[in-house]
Amino acid sequence: MNILVINCGSSSLKFQLIDAVSEAVLAKGLCERIGIEGSRLVYQPAGGEKEITESPMPTHKQAIQMVLDALVNEKTGVIKSLAEVGAVGHRVVHGGEKFASSAVITDDMLKAVEECNDLAPLHNPANLIGINACKELMPDTPMVGVFDTAFHQTMPSTAYLYGLPYEYYEKYKVRRYGFHGTSHSYVSKRVAELLGKPVTELKTIVCHLGNGASVCAVKNGESIDTSMGLTPLEGLVMGTRSGDIDPAILEFLAKKENLDINGLMNVLNKKSGVFGLSEGLSSDFRDLENAANEGNEAAARARAVFNYRVAKYIGAYAAAMNGVDVIVFTAGLGENDHLVREDICSYLGYLGVTLDLDANKVRGKEVELSTSDSKVKVWMVPTNEELAIARETLALVK
Ligand code: AMP
Repeated sequence: MNILVINCGSSSLKFQLIDAVSEAVLAKGLCERIGIEGSRLVYQPAGGEKEITESPMPTHKQAIQMVLDALVNEKTGVIKSLAEVGAVGHRVVHGGEKFASSAVITDDMLKAVEECNDLAPLHNPANLIGINACKELMPDTPMVGVFDTAFHQTMPSTAYLYGLPYEYYEKYKVRRYGFHGTSHSYVSKRVAELLGKPVTELKTIVCHLGNGASVCAVKNGESIDTSMGLTPLEGLVMGTRSGDIDPAILEFLAKKENLDINGLMNVLNKKSGVFGLSEGLSSDFRDLENAANEGNEAAARARAVFNYRVAKYIGAYAAAMNGVDVIVFTAGLGENDHLVREDICSYLGYLGVTLDLDANKVRGKEVELSTSDSKVKVWMVPTNEELAIARETLALVK
């Protein structure tokens, strides 16, 4: 069976067609600038060249239609007809407390997702638009929603409650949810396989370090704490997001900079993180590294603050689990930037972490990075959220 995996944003849509048996990617790509002038489809069949088609896509339905046409195209398509798509797996950002696992898409399920829109106003409505457009075009194909938050629903209340009046949790469900759950789940299971141990016997800390970044404590296969909260703004210093700050800074800055709540949220989401710390130089670590090598102190400072925050969270999660067996790095930075991994691990000697500095100089591979005598193992495991979504989808529609 082939599974179409769709990750729909407000103006973009990423897709992969995956053979569920061999787990091979048959084709992948993205639609950009949906509903905006200059929209285009980037399509790449396995082993083939990338193809770019510029064409108006006023709605998500038109974007998905273009994807489906590309998949069955006589020349560059990879299937003969849409009957060869056995199911569709949709990424959904927020499942609130309603979804502790993936779910088959039904009218009731969609209603429940819609009730979570308040919790992720930028993401969930876009995910729903993608699902509804797909349903219109493929009404008889089973579909599954896979939630970024679901894996973290095992967190105990000690980890998910904020120190706020309890009534806000009761009335509005203000609590920590966590994100990147599909990635944390995939990577924690995969590293257990690579270590040859049951995931149910491991204390794992997964560091998903990309433009958005989070750390997760996975004890015996379950998420017991993670650094993102009600929204993806909490936790680590990120590309442009602040991560943890003293909440009183909001009032202080509102007065000093004459900002309203929208202005403040814009600063915290878009102008902070390593971008803000580097005085607006870049949110991309490659730029920061190049600048730091040329003596740019702001770039070096931004990287140092990012790394220190990750190390602090690892220490906190080792405490939360009363120990740690393996620390795993994944996502854009975690998989590619050996200097980030080296600097983070330099804080962790007290835990029994010894990094093999030569082994660490690799990119994007499943590989052990610690020395053979390191008490705590360190691994790099490339994440694969699309494959994880395809597996979840297959399991539910089988
Ligand atoms: P992601 O959000 O997972 O795509 O990760 C984006 C981050 O990964 C950016 O800060 C990039 O600079 C970083 N990144 C991606 N590729 C590389 C690379 N080859 N070397 C260093 N950093 C990289």
